[in-house]
Amino acid sequence: MPTNGGFKLITASRLIDAKGGPPIDNGAVLVQGTSILAVGRASEVAAPEGADVQIMDYPGKTVMPGMVDCHTHHNGFGDGRAGDELALLDDEILTLQSARNARSSLYSGVTSIRENGPKNYTMFRLRDSINMGITVGPRMVLCGRPVAIIGGHMGYFGSEVTGPIETRAMTRQLIKEGADYIKVTATGGSTRTSFPLKPSFTVEELLAITDEAHKFGKLTATHCVSSQGIANSLDADVDMIIHCVFKEGDGTDVFRQDIADRIGEKGVFVNPTLHVGRSSRWKLEHKQEAQGLTPEEATALEAAYRNNEVRLEDSRKMIEMGLKLITGSDSSWGDYQLGNTVYETELLVEAGYTAMQGVQSVTSEAAKALGLDNIVGTLEAGKEADIIIVDGDPSQDINALWNIDEVFLAGEDVDRGSFDSNSTVRQPPVV
Ligand SMILES: [Zn+2]
Repeated sequence: MPTNGGFKLITASRLIDAKGGPPIDNGAVLVQGTSILAVGRASEVAAPEGADVQIMDYPGKTVMPGMVDCHTHHNGFGDGRAGDELALLDDEILTLQSARNARSSLYSGVTSIRENGPKNYTMFRLRDSINMGITVGPRMVLCGRPVAIIGGHMGYFGSEVTGPIETRAMTRQLIKEGADYIKVTATGGSTRTSFPLKPSFTVEELLAITDEAHKFGKLTATHCVSSQGIANSLDADVDMIIHCVFKEGDGTDVFRQDIADRIGEKGVFVNPTLHVGRSSRWKLEHKQEAQGLTPEEATALEAAYRNNEVRLEDSRKMIEMGLKLITGSDSSWGDYQLGNTVYETELLVEAGYTAMQGVQSVTSEAAKALGLDNIVGTLEAGKEADIIIVDGDPSQDINALWNIDEVFLAGEDVDRGSFDSNSTVRQPPVV
């Protein structure tokens, strides 16, 4: 991380610390070097007498913590290509694409990410490159590679294993390589050789992973696109359920209240990934308008509408139960491109969060879900100075998070280039 020894006093018409209280009018954040020294009303926050302080004032704007995206795929292109094809590209290409994505994401106001599925060592090397100052990107919580069964979802990224001895060994291997948490695919997924409606690992295999990860203080998260995978993950003490799709083994959509209750009892975080499906739906809708759809595409569009509805409804139920749903975009998977994290937060608000809860789902709550809350996620003295300036008030309208005016990473004002180049990153919605 770059350092800056001096003081910065950042003031704005509104301050959201993301701790849960209402915004503070005329707020200020005092930064020294890479960290936050004080937060509060502008009238009460000042640099020490005689100190050399850079004053940055943002009238009419909001100062808040940088966004935290709990679910990324930096290797991806978000152009609809399948993971099976993505994995055929050379690691060097994937690392460069990841660098491009990391930059877009940082410029969009995301200052921390958790990576959910890259190939081989690509993200470790990207993080090394960022630490060397070769390129820029958010703070990174890395899994190395997702752990999969043979032929399982994302097995093509390089970590297929069988049995509790091998799952434990792979966990140790990934930690040795530098993994910060362990990502596991507990059901199949879009991978052609996998079975999305069936669980992949046994509970015994999963337990070997969580036991080993937790021994080293590492969190775990499982990809689950059908209900049995969620139930198995809960049996195995997994810390976050990704996707959390309630589908029975025969493909029917049944919201499993019993499983949802267990998620609540165990305090497990849920990352519903709502927009990745909507982005594919949007792509079909754009094509429908422009040139029409093939019969197969028309069927896919119908399925996408229904799927979006079911997932929103299930998320609504989980929000009403008080479960901990956080923003994790799943970009650049499918048709969803990095730099567009806010679409996911927007759908959590549509599912029932208030705008302020939406803000917390992509800052403080997201940081808790990643075990980063002692470092980032709120504006508080002692935390790293990951700060964004937003034009508008995201605690009233979550869409204000699109209007990023300035990004600070570890106290450093990020040079984001031109407004025009940043605007090209946003994927257009269907109007
Ligand atoms: Zn994903």
